[in-house]
Amino acid sequence: MNINEIFYSIQGEGKWTGLPNIFIRVTGCNLRCSYCDTKYAYYDGKEMSIKEIVNYINKYPCRYVCITGGEPLLQAETLELINTVLKKNYKISIETNGSINVEDIVNKKSLMISLDIKCPSSNMNEKMHLENISLLNKDDQLKIIIQNKEDYDYAKKIIQKYQPKCHVFFQPVWANNPKNLADWILGDGLNVKLGLQIHKMIWGDVKGV
Ligand code: SF4
Repeated sequence: MNINEIFYSIQGEGKWTGLPNIFIRVTGCNLRCSYCDTKYAYYDGKEMSIKEIVNYINKYPCRYVCITGGEPLLQAETLELINTVLKKNYKISIETNGSINVEDIVNKKSLMISLDIKCPSSNMNEKMHLENISLLNKDDQLKIIIQNKEDYDYAKKIIQKYQPKCHVFFQPVWANNPKNLADWILGDGLNVKLGLQIHKMIWGDVKGV
């Protein structure tokens, strides 16, 4: 597989926020979000076999693995990586950008799907495979990335239409003041969680954390 980086840090987003995780960042992305904070993962990486990856993560004192990108589902071997790491008794979250069908990875024991939905300000909203939302189960999570009121209204319509069974996070694009988003959620009485990127609060918007 082509791997951009592997590191050990605090999970900064979603249900596992605050929990130490091993991050496996897979190289390559099929989207180009306007606010992308991970451009360094588009092309740079090194070839690693699944055995090498498993040996590498074994050095960390941690049983939680986050497979992220880029877009990890672009590489065919990601499925084998998931199955191999699960067999080693890790718990996995996989962060996927919402453009690729997730049916091959739903309902796997100890695997949490973290599905992004991109709103209009990303310029990638038309690439979303929204049928994915109905495939998620109650232990998965949906992360909708919001930059402005147009995005918020779009996100609200998505959850009203698809009625996700899983945890739903509305997450402001980094460096946007989250207060507006908090006020909109409260004003509409939405049953969603405000998600903040705590790893960036701790270390800033830098690579490898
Ligand atoms: S999906 Fe993620 S990595 Fe890909 S362009 Fe969007 S923000 Fe960047």
